[in-house]
Amino acid sequence: LAAPLFADLAGDVAVSFEFFPPKTDKLDGALWEAVSTLRPLDPRFVSVTYGAGGSTRERTHATVARIVRETGIPAAAHLTCVEASRDEIAAVAEEYWASGVRHIVALRGDSPQPGERYHPPADGYENAAALVAGLRRLHPFEISVAAYPECHPDSEHAVADLDNLKRKLDAGATRAITQFFFEPDTFFRFRDAAAAAGIGAEIVPGIMPVTNYASVARMSAMCGTAVPAWLKRLFEGLDDQPQMRQLVAVTVAAELCRRLYAGGERAFHFYTLNRAELSYAICHLLGVRPVREAAVAAA
Ligand code: FAD
Repeated sequence: LAAPLFADLAGDVAVSFEFFPPKTDKLDGALWEAVSTLRPLDPRFVSVTYGAGGSTRERTHATVARIVRETGIPAAAHLTCVEASRDEIAAVAEEYWASGVRHIVALRGDSPQPGERYHPPADGYENAAALVAGLRRLHPFEISVAAYPECHPDSEHAVADLDNLKRKLDAGATRAITQFFFEPDTFFRFRDAAAAAGIGAEIVPGIMPVTNYASVARMSAMCGTAVPAWLKRLFEGLDDQPQMRQLVAVTVAAELCRRLYAGGERAFHFYTLNRAELSYAICHLLGVRPVREAAVAAA
């Protein structure tokens, strides 16, 4: 596909940002700096992850509630089925509803023992589709779910994985956000397969700006994402040059978005890792501007 130049992008891109709940006061400061920096880009929503085994339950709640309260950005709380009964999950969801949180990213999660298969807890939800149905029964939450362009490692094959995605959407989710990936064709193939399977819901590409090849290679191996050889080559020789790696990260991720844009995508979800600069720079290249600046230009 002939992708348009960055300068020619029409300013019609919508973005969302993912954060993780901070563990320390210092990290808390970094998170708030990132939220404040990205806020003028008028994200559709931001989301806050949920640690394995519910380990961040309070911190996720506090972070999401504070974003809603202090910034007015629609914030989504990630919620997993791990080590929680249905009643416990209902209690968490009720707390969110009471704090004004109206959007949940509903996930199954993983076993707390790395590499071990997921076993549903007693009285718990067996998978994300069941969680979506449970949340739907409680309140009219907006619900997003996870999708896997390269197939979830637990899935026997891609068709079963798509069936699972369809079950989550049929249970009441409104959109899917994908696992990160590096080749535009990976997304386009998945998008086509989803459409052929009768999935009409929005599938938002999840974009991971990579600054550290080794750690992303490790993460990718766990979640089944293929790491292309060219990515390794682009980071060769830059181990001791963190600033250079940031520039490469922006270039690679912006190029991925530009090619996805050429294929019709207009919404992107950024895994920010609580750092604003990379996502901000990529958004800027995609024509996303601070809302005040856009209003002045229109006037
Ligand atoms: P599910 O959709 O339930 O499915 C998991 C796998 O099991 C799929 O392969 C599916 O095909 C298979 N499966 C499910 N049910 C059945 C069935 N009945 N029969 C056969 N096969 C079945 N993890 C966290 O801990 N915290 C987070 O905040 C978090 N945020 C995430 C955000 C995004 C956008 C993404 C993409 C992932 C996130 N994860 C998070 C990771 C996620 O928890 C893991 O990928 C987990 O292994 C699967 O969760 P799921 O919701 O996709 O599970």
